[in-house]
Amino acid sequence: MKILNPAVSFDKFFDDLPEYDRKILFLDYDGTLAPFVKDPAKAVPYNGVRELLKQLLEETDTRLIIVTGRYTKDIIPLLGMEKIPEIWGSHGLEHLKPDGTYRVADIKPAASEGLQKARNLVTEEELKSRLEEKPGCLALHWRGFEQEQVAQIRSKYLELWKNIACTHQLLLKEFDGGLELRSPGKNKGDAVREVMAGITEKKTAAYLGDDATDEDAFSALKGSGLTILVRKELRKTGADLWIEPPGELLDFLHRWLEVCRSGKRVI
Ligand SMILES: [Mg+2]
Repeated sequence: MKILNPAVSFDKFFDDLPEYDRKILFLDYDGTLAPFVKDPAKAVPYNGVRELLKQLLEETDTRLIIVTGRYTKDIIPLLGMEKIPEIWGSHGLEHLKPDGTYRVADIKPAASEGLQKARNLVTEEELKSRLEEKPGCLALHWRGFEQEQVAQIRSKYLELWKNIACTHQLLLKEFDGGLELRSPGKNKGDAVREVMAGITEKKTAAYLGDDATDEDAFSALKGSGLTILVRKELRKTGADLWIEPPGELLDFLHRWLEVCRSGKRVI
């Protein structure tokens, strides 16, 4: 663990945590709770994570929220939890509440048209199966390909999709293991802001994430919670501290569980 923001104290955060009426734990999925694997459909959480999340949901008053770039319906089986937590999917375009209420933001027709065009440009059979479609977004995954092949795919689709991004007002972003084109207007930071703004009680939060897309969430939570980069290697980030998965991630979830379990309010 490394403290990146000297104004933040890890121990003080946990000492103070029981005092808050609302405790929110935002968790990214890929690269944070689950290691990257060649086939994203097989990316299950690190050993021990599922059990800790289950305990956090059932034994504490934590509002546990998964914030992911993935399609909500794709993340549910991977989480493998009987009781489904709150999920903000597709970078905040979708919101699934624990009671099953589901809402998806409107996608502009021009954006949908652009995504369709981008999809049609992918002609290689081996890449078609690597396309991930979700509301307002199209992602191309190249994890597992040879380095040389990745370089070719990357430069080809960066060029092709860049043109579509320009003409259809879409955002083109590289992520760890691929490229995505998505409708603007929502990001993980918007999800964090919406959750925090909707709570009037005394609240605190932590956000754990690994990717460039989590930086929007880190900046949205700045000053009202703890932001943590979860990654094997440290990189430039706006997060308050850096932890290495899975060991330090499990330690963090375990500490949260212990602190909140003993401090759970009786309602
Ligand atoms: Mg991630």
